[in-house]
Amino acid sequence: MTVKDRFDTSRSGLEAMLLAGEEEAFSLFAAAREVRREHFGSRAFIRAVIEFSNRCRCNCLYCGMRKDNNGIERFTLDGERIVDAASAAFRAGIRTFFLQSAESEDYDPEWLAGIIRAIHGMGMTVLLCVGARTEDDLDLWREAGASKFILKHETSDPDLFGRMKPGLTLAGRIEWLKTLKRHGYGIGSGPLLGLPGQTVRSLVDDLLLLRDLDVDMSSVSVFLPAAGTPLEKAPTGSVDLGLRFMAAMRILLKRTLIPATSTFERLRSGGQLACFDAGANVITVNMTPPSVRGEYALYTERFFVSLEHARGVIRRAGLEEAAEAI
Ligand code: SF4
Repeated sequence: MTVKDRFDTSRSGLEAMLLAGEEEAFSLFAAAREVRREHFGSRAFIRAVIEFSNRCRCNCLYCGMRKDNNGIERFTLDGERIVDAASAAFRAGIRTFFLQSAESEDYDPEWLAGIIRAIHGMGMTVLLCVGARTEDDLDLWREAGASKFILKHETSDPDLFGRMKPGLTLAGRIEWLKTLKRHGYGIGSGPLLGLPGQTVRSLVDDLLLLRDLDVDMSSVSVFLPAAGTPLEKAPTGSVDLGLRFMAAMRILLKRTLIPATSTFERLRSGGQLACFDAGANVITVNMTPPSVRGEYALYTERFFVSLEHARGVIRRAGLEEAAEAI
């Protein structure tokens, strides 16, 4: 019996993974690495992200870019700057470019389509994370060359979702993820771990939801309070629980792309290497211009991943950089 066979993926098995003690977690992480090796060999992937607009129509309680927060400067980058950043990423050998924004109504979908076309034309995979738009926009961007779309579900607890994201519903979010799939996108989703009121049971539901959605990419970020929000004094989420969640995702979902998110490094030096040790296989370099990146206020005092840091993490994890499949 291999180490991975020791972990069952029933509801109670998943709960046991999340609650694993230190010794058991050691085996859990080894099992997650074994599953990753079976499906990806020693390959790991680097993406580059640019956060191009922090203007948001939503008011999520945990996010510093919420509409009601007047404590940040709002920005939308110009197209040339975005394409230049993608060119720099391409020259550095990165082949996946990630266009991320808040739920902004500050730009024309045709404008974004032009940017996607330019970046896809360089030979890069284009990944979007721009919130819910219209189905016509989805088709426009898909035709322009975007092939992947991330929409975090944040929590599978419908009541908590409604409290954290006023005016939105979990059911609507899930429907939108299915819509993305129907429009030909590879989809990604995942929870924000450590939201006040979240339970281990709901984290198990998060795992099962990701499985049922048959996601191509899955991630977990650890909650960190953002200044100027109703949750600015709430405690941070647990890195240790986050790592167990990551390993459980790998064991349950197997072939999914799992990023080592920057919140782990922000909370613990070496946190992203720990993510790779728990089954992650992606790391994302931040290419948002330094003059505005602090205003992309997902949480306070963010950790920004450089290319050097990303390559160092992959090397120390004993993996080799490869291009993500389109
Ligand atoms: S989480 Fe996203 S949708 Fe919600 S306020 Fe922040 S940027 Fe806007």
